[in-house]
Amino acid sequence: MSQQVEVDVAVVGAGPVGGTLALRLAEAGMSVAVLDRAALPPMEHPDFDGRAYAVALASQRVMAAAGVWDALPMEPGPIREIRVSDGRPGRPASPLFLHFDVGELAGTEAEGAIEAFGWMVEARSLRMALNARLSAHPRVRVFAPATAAVERTANGARLALTDGTIISARLVAAAEGRTSPLREAAGIGVTRLAYRQHGVVCAIAHEHPHEGVALEHFLPPGPFAQLPLAPGPAGENLSALVWTERPEVAKALMTCTAGRLVAEIERRMGGHLGRIRLVGRRWSYPLSLLHAHRYHDTRLVLVGDAAHGMHPIAGQGLNVGFQDVGVLAEMLAGATDPGNRDLLAAYQRRRRPAVIRMLAATDALDRLFSNDNPKVRLARDLGLAAVHRLPTLKRFFMRQAMGI
Ligand SMILES: Cc1cc2nc3c(=O)[nH]c(=O)nc-3n(C[C@H](O)[C@H](O)[C@H](O)COP(=O)(O)OP(=O)(O)OC[C@H]3O[C@@H](n4cnc5c(N)ncnc54)[C@H](O)[C@@H]3O)c2cc1C
Repeated sequence: MSQQVEVDVAVVGAGPVGGTLALRLAEAGMSVAVLDRAALPPMEHPDFDGRAYAVALASQRVMAAAGVWDALPMEPGPIREIRVSDGRPGRPASPLFLHFDVGELAGTEAEGAIEAFGWMVEARSLRMALNARLSAHPRVRVFAPATAAVERTANGARLALTDGTIISARLVAAAEGRTSPLREAAGIGVTRLAYRQHGVVCAIAHEHPHEGVALEHFLPPGPFAQLPLAPGPAGENLSALVWTERPEVAKALMTCTAGRLVAEIERRMGGHLGRIRLVGRRWSYPLSLLHAHRYHDTRLVLVGDAAHGMHPIAGQGLNVGFQDVGVLAEMLAGATDPGNRDLLAAYQRRRRPAVIRMLAATDALDRLFSNDNPKVRLARDLGLAAVHRLPTLKRFFMRQAMGI
């Protein structure tokens, strides 16, 4: 049955960024409509998305303020140590590795004890928490599956849904991910850079505990990361793997037998976790960089991957999206008109420099480390060793990893 709905903000895309933004705004007292082109419950299925996000401390705070953190049905896995090494498959990692231990920050933070750099949160767990909170929140209306024809004028936006529902909003937030139709309709251009790399993602169970250590092993085709997950239902030691490969190698890894894949993992990771086995299925994502030339238009604002997408080398894509949420929610909370042009321009001014820095950093890291030239290898190994020996620089990197 067709209906008329009037809200402060309509969020298009109920993914990790859009869903969290909707809840954060609702918590601040705003009325919100959130719509997704897909039905929400199937996104909770284990086969929908194999990613586990490294969620930095600053993002955890955004999730907590949106009421999402405490609603996670699966325990997040804390990251207490990060080891970075430079190597080649089948050979020992460079001895000049970087080692960050959260204990080294003890006594340096005014806000008190910090127990982890961040947490591993499974995409599925995040979706379950978001979907449950979105449908239960009294100030949020969910429309999914639904697509909308959106008209925007200086006075407001009108979203005509396929089922006949008309939503009037003062602001539309585009959170539809990288392909954002709203961004395209607004004529906002993007800079794109395709990496000739795919990110292969899977989970493993292993004999020895990971002790909260995340490992980033830089190899010529790209980084190989082992990230500590919380124990499985039967107490199994679990880790998520994200590793970057050339497209043809990624394709072979996706189709080879489980035994062959485990052998390839061991070749890259070494044997420190003991016997390992594959858990669940594997995924492969083509990697690219994307940056929107503007983050706003009339009564429209871009958040998350709709505004920026980056290489997963530092596990920062979603974290940068959560920063958008934190800043935008703070700016909209006290505003009389959430779609005010000056306010949206101020949001762009606040977010752009930090986003560009992160896009540049992830791109530079990928170029620096996905390189087998002996001189480049020597320079970066010396760089890693220098950071390792300089406590101030080391603390700087640790704070960056936490997003604070
Ligand atoms: C291999 C890999 C590993 C990663 N690891 C990490 C990590 O460890 N830490 C981290 O911070 N980031 C990580 N990222 C990045 C992270 O996955 C993205 O930044 C994040 O998913 C972006 O969230 P989003 O909500 O903006 O977009 P999306 O996750 O793309 O969600 C978009 C939503 O919008 C909906 N939608 C799309 N089009 C429409 C439409 N027309 N109308 C309505 N709804 C629509 C979709 O159904 C979806 O629900 C990784 C990425 C990759 C590829």
